[in-house]
Amino acid sequence: MTTHLTAGQRALLEAALVQRQHQLDRRLAEHNEGLSRVEHAREVLQQDVREAAQREEERELDMALSDMEQRELGEVSNALRRLHTDAFGRCTDCDAEIPFDRLKVEPWALRCVACEGRRERDPRQAA
Ligand SMILES: [Zn+2]
Repeated sequence: MTTHLTAGQRALLEAALVQRQHQLDRRLAEHNEGLSRVEHAREVLQQDVREAAQREEERELDMALSDMEQRELGEVSNALRRLHTDAFGRCTDCDAEIPFDRLKVEPWALRCVACEGRRERDPRQAA
């Protein structure tokens, strides 16, 4: 396997990814234990308008958080799948090696700092 990462570094990143995956799994399960959308709608109808509006806001925040966690879980799972391939640790845009120091912070990073920065400056390029 041709990679700039040592087996030890790879093992460390795998442990971090698995830990993050469990954390996200647990958080999403907690969110899902809340009211379903249908139950929530029924509840809103029975409450006075002001309280309902406040609950709606909380609900939207919760949904937004869930969406974020869901997306991150996807990135983490994706990274775990790539971990044992040559593609892991390489920028998907320019094929540069992503330094271990960066992967330590963000093991699911798909791009080098330069490409990530370019995308942030020009969101139209973002896939
Ligand atoms: Zn790059």
